[in-house]
Amino acid sequence: MNRITNRSWIVVVLALALVAGSVLFVWEFVTQGPDWVYFSGSPHVYDGLKPEKGVLTDRNGVLLLNLGEGTYATDSQVRRAMLHWTGDRQGNIATPLLSQYLRQMTGFDLLNGVYAYADAPGVMELTLSAKVQTAALEALGDAKGTVAVYNYKTGQILCAVSTPSFDPDDVPDVAGDTSGIYDGVYLNRFTQVTYTPGSIFKLVTTAVALETIPDILRQDFTCTGVLEVGGGTVTCERAHGTMGLYEALANSCNCTYANIAQQIGGERLQRYAEAFGITGKLSFDGYSTAAGSLNAADASLYELSWAGIGQHTDLVNPCQFLSFVGAIANGGAGTVPHVVDRITVGDRVTYRAEPERMDRIMSADTARILREMMRNNVEEKYGDENFPDILVCAKSGTAEMDGDVASNALFTGFVMDEEYPLAFIVVVQEGGYGSHTGMPIINKVLTACMEVLDEE
Ligand SMILES: [Zn+2]
Repeated sequence: MNRITNRSWIVVVLALALVAGSVLFVWEFVTQGPDWVYFSGSPHVYDGLKPEKGVLTDRNGVLLLNLGEGTYATDSQVRRAMLHWTGDRQGNIATPLLSQYLRQMTGFDLLNGVYAYADAPGVMELTLSAKVQTAALEALGDAKGTVAVYNYKTGQILCAVSTPSFDPDDVPDVAGDTSGIYDGVYLNRFTQVTYTPGSIFKLVTTAVALETIPDILRQDFTCTGVLEVGGGTVTCERAHGTMGLYEALANSCNCTYANIAQQIGGERLQRYAEAFGITGKLSFDGYSTAAGSLNAADASLYELSWAGIGQHTDLVNPCQFLSFVGAIANGGAGTVPHVVDRITVGDRVTYRAEPERMDRIMSADTARILREMMRNNVEEKYGDENFPDILVCAKSGTAEMDGDVASNALFTGFVMDEEYPLAFIVVVQEGGYGSHTGMPIINKVLTACMEVLDEE
């Protein structure tokens, strides 16, 4: 009897162990099944380090990349313009898009596994326009830099070109090049690089001043062309005379902005710039941008003056700064930019991007006044004749660089038109004056954007 009881207990214990094991297996299958399939090197989906199949198109269905067939766009200019989003065959240019959305691209589910490979590969439709990308590539010419435009209401990036570039179907000898034309060619200058902002940073300083100095719009500033600060000198190109805040931004008066930075104070300028996202990273679609930097909190008065002007050790990332300008255009709260619009597998939509609002970073009043000031810049200084068919609000920057090199040209702003809620940024390395270099480029690119939107 005892022996039978003992055996019964052993059977019960074994049965319980089986049940527990089954529960554990099912639990792990449900929770980790996708990870088992998608671990790097899984024979189901990977060919080496890249996803094996999948098609990438622009916003209008223009083929950019067919992984299964190993082909890029048929047009070489499109291949060059899209290089930093499609990547190259050698893997020198990192593009996380396809691996980020591997599940949606392959249509994995628990019952069927990776069923999509049996028939159609996933198709990822980007928000980028091949037509606008090539217009931007041609507008930049031989210059190094980036041009980007995004819809600040939906977050869709229509254009983000990085130069220099090359044709992935005709790869140059980058390592053996001594001319310098391919310096940094593997970097996506829109997401991975930071630049000294120069005077486009005055938008940040102005926003902080509007938020924190109650009488800033009633103050008068006098510029003699030179301001002695803490043993150093801040200079303007000429004496701007006496002016209010609107005119100070339009003149891009360094002496006034040194004064304003001092009124704000280093700690406060730092705190607000961080809250604006200027020093942080922005993440979307598997990308994480380079982080900007500002060292104002512990700066000397002289350093703080230049920090408020966009020099000192200030650095901004073009994508991050574009989203800041988008927030100004959009009433004080921005929208996270994105490049992936939707993914389909066969006739199933497995992913669709939705506008993702960011937290409010400035009051609606501050945003409204900044919009007026940026409109005033174009009316009074840059000239509406440079944008024959577009109402533009903007700020230029001419960032002085160390050493014997020309300044970097920057130009950022947005279109004031409900039909075309587009914000933009242009960076041209060693491009000289921001407005002079930036305006013809962005006029061509915005015109192409509006044509594309009109056709949709
Ligand atoms: Zn001045």
